[in-house]
Amino acid sequence: MPVYNVKLIRKEDIADGTMAFYFEKPEGFSHKAGQYADLTLIDPQQTDAEGNVRTFTLANAPYEDALMFATRMRDSAFKRELKTMPIGAEISLDAPHGTFTLHNKTDVPAVFLTGGIGLTPARSIILQAAHDKLAHKIYLFDSNKRPEDAVFLDELMAAQHDNPNYTFIGTMTQMEKSKCSWDGETGLIDETMLTKYVGDLNVPIYYIVGPQGMVYAMVEMLLTAGVDDDNIRTEEFFGY
Ligand SMILES: Cc1cc2nc3c(=O)[nH]c(=O)nc-3n(C[C@H](O)[C@H](O)[C@H](O)COP(=O)(O)OP(=O)(O)OC[C@H]3O[C@@H](n4cnc5c(N)ncnc54)[C@H](O)[C@@H]3O)c2cc1C
Repeated sequence: MPVYNVKLIRKEDIADGTMAFYFEKPEGFSHKAGQYADLTLIDPQQTDAEGNVRTFTLANAPYEDALMFATRMRDSAFKRELKTMPIGAEISLDAPHGTFTLHNKTDVPAVFLTGGIGLTPARSIILQAAHDKLAHKIYLFDSNKRPEDAVFLDELMAAQHDNPNYTFIGTMTQMEKSKCSWDGETGLIDETMLTKYVGDLNVPIYYIVGPQGMVYAMVEMLLTAGVDDDNIRTEEFFGY
C-alpha cells in the first residue's frame, strides 16, 4: 500500500477522554468504508515500549473531504504525542487496509454490534451507505457505558432521517454513573434485544467491532442463539 505524509488540520474532543483527529486527504487517495490505516509518528519527542505506530480505522466516510481518526486518549506515548501535535504537523499514513467492509448483496441485512470506540468502522459504512442510497437494511446496536462515553451519537441517530433502511439502537450499560438523560435501551446487547428489532436472527450478516472481550462475548451470544458463524465478521481493537 502507498505511504503518505498527511497534515493534521483539526482535532476535537468528541466524548469523555476521546478525541477525533482530522488529516488532509492525499491527492488520489481512496478507501472503502470500514478500512483502516497504520499511523506512524514522525520524529516523536517521546516514545515507549508500545512504539510509534498505531492502527486506527478511517472513521470518515469515503465521500467526506478529510481523513478522520477517533480514539480514547489513554496515557501511551503515542497518544500523548498525537494529542499535542500542532495543526499543520504531519504523520505517516499507510493505508488503506482491511476487509471489514459492507457485503454486496443488498437483500441481506447488516447488523453492526459495536462497543465504545469500536463504532468507528460502522460510522464510515453507515454514512457512506446513506450517501450512496444503498438498499441494504442496516441495524446499528451501539453499546456504551454512558452517553458521556458514546461517540458520534447524534450523527448516527440523525442518519436515520437520510436512510429509511437504517435503524439506530443505542444501549447504555452504566446509566447509574451518568449525569445525562437517556431514553434508549439499557444493558448489554443480548439475544432478546436483537430479536426485538431484527426478527429472525439467521437472516443478517453481523459485524462485531470493539475491545477483544466485547467481541468474544458477542460472538458467543450469536453462536448460542444459533447464528451460522459464516454470517459473523469481527474486528478486534487490541490494546483496550
Ligand atoms: C483494525 C483495527 C482498527 C482499530 N481502530 C481503532 C480506532 O478507530 N480507534 C481506536 O482508538 N483504536 C483502534 N484500534 C486499536 C488501536 O490500534 C490501539 O491498540 C488502541 O487505541 C490502544 O492504544 P493505546 O496507545 O491506548 O494502548 P497501548 O496498550 O499502549 O498500545 C496498544 C498496543 O496493543 C498491542 N497490539 C496492537 N496490535 C496488536 C495485535 N494485532 N495483536 C496483539 N497486540 C496488539 C501493541 O502492543 C500496541 O502497541 C484498532 C485496532 C485494529 C487492529
